[in-house]
Amino acid sequence: MKLAMIGFGQAGGKIVDKFVAYDKEHGSDIVRAAVAVNTAKADLMGLDHIPESQRVLIGQSRVKGHGVGADNELGAEIAEEDMDEVQGSIDSIPVHEVDAFLVVAGLGGGTGSGGAPVISKHLKRIYTEPVYGLGILPGSDEGGIYTLNAARSFQTFVREVDNLMVFDNDAWRKTGESVQGGYDQINDEIVKRFGILFGAGEVEQGGEVAESVVDSSEIINTLAGGGVSTVGYAREEVENTGGGGGLLSRLTGGEEEDNLDTAHTTNRITSLVRKAALGRLTLPCEIEGTERALLVMAGPPKYLNRKGIERGRKWLEEQTGSMEVRGGDYPVTGANFVASVILLSGVNNVPRIKELQQVAIEAQENIEEIQQESDDKLEGLVNDDEDELESLF
Ligand code: GDP
Repeated sequence: MKLAMIGFGQAGGKIVDKFVAYDKEHGSDIVRAAVAVNTAKADLMGLDHIPESQRVLIGQSRVKGHGVGADNELGAEIAEEDMDEVQGSIDSIPVHEVDAFLVVAGLGGGTGSGGAPVISKHLKRIYTEPVYGLGILPGSDEGGIYTLNAARSFQTFVREVDNLMVFDNDAWRKTGESVQGGYDQINDEIVKRFGILFGAGEVEQGGEVAESVVDSSEIINTLAGGGVSTVGYAREEVENTGGGGGLLSRLTGGEEEDNLDTAHTTNRITSLVRKAALGRLTLPCEIEGTERALLVMAGPPKYLNRKGIERGRKWLEEQTGSMEVRGGDYPVTGANFVASVILLSGVNNVPRIKELQQVAIEAQENIEEIQQESDDKLEGLVNDDEDELESLF
């Protein structure tokens, strides 16, 4: 699947930068265009792979390249005001060659948190291609303002995109690690999972490759219908001699051994599907109640088989209760692993989202209370003034 990626803010830019590197390394051909947008000049300069011509500094007249801190309202205002500059770099993208846009941002900060929903809304107004979001939730140790920013940005972002894929830093942070080192690892994890998912849709059907290759319309259909998505992943190393049906079994001429191989391959696939769905998701949640799902099995063609994928798909249907579970192969000839990636789209039972919604509601109530308080005070002041004025005369 070919994407036009737009990284908003520091986290967004770094993750898109990593996608570009992944794409070059694996030849997966998913990043048709990459743009980084920021209010902080230093963050744009720190990128390695996105071409300089595709790095857009916004808000120069207001923050002079120094960023907006954690002020996401200012981030949103600037994005709104300088949309023409962002559009200028999108104009250089051959949009007819992309299947979708992907807007990536950390939701706890200022620029990405405020700007990602604004750019998404803009893209949806102009283009017919789907606009997906990849939103990063902050760690709970980052502090209240980050949580509040994320709560607010999430609510708007999910409304403006065709589907919001989420990665929760909080579920992935490791203790005792430097923040930067931690982010590098986390970003690798993000790019690996989404790289396999989107890469699956780029393999040509037919030829000698497997029978049921995932195509981009299956990814698009799984994401269609909106809501929030999460991704599971599991892998197992395999020996890849590059051959077809296993040299040993051909030498020994044993049909039995072939059957054993097939059974082993099928079992490996079904257990990888379970591990991916029940292991750590990008956004931890109950998988029951998921609206749509897509299972991608990646690896050398000889380690993929239709029976295993079909079983895995059925199991996912049972676990999620969804009637819309797709599945297929992503043949990667040279790989020394078999991996399963599961996209769960339209998840409904997500504790972290409920927590964020609660934070947003409380903040809203507080705002009303504060507003009310200050109105009362103002009224009091005016009345006092009037009393004072009256007593003067
Ligand atoms: P912005 O530049 O104002 O949009 O803010 P940042 O992107 O620097 O930070 C927003 C949030 O993103 C932070 O609160 C972190 O939770 C998260 N974050 C920052 N950098 C990274 C990164 O490299 N990887 C990941 N996964 N999260 C990050």
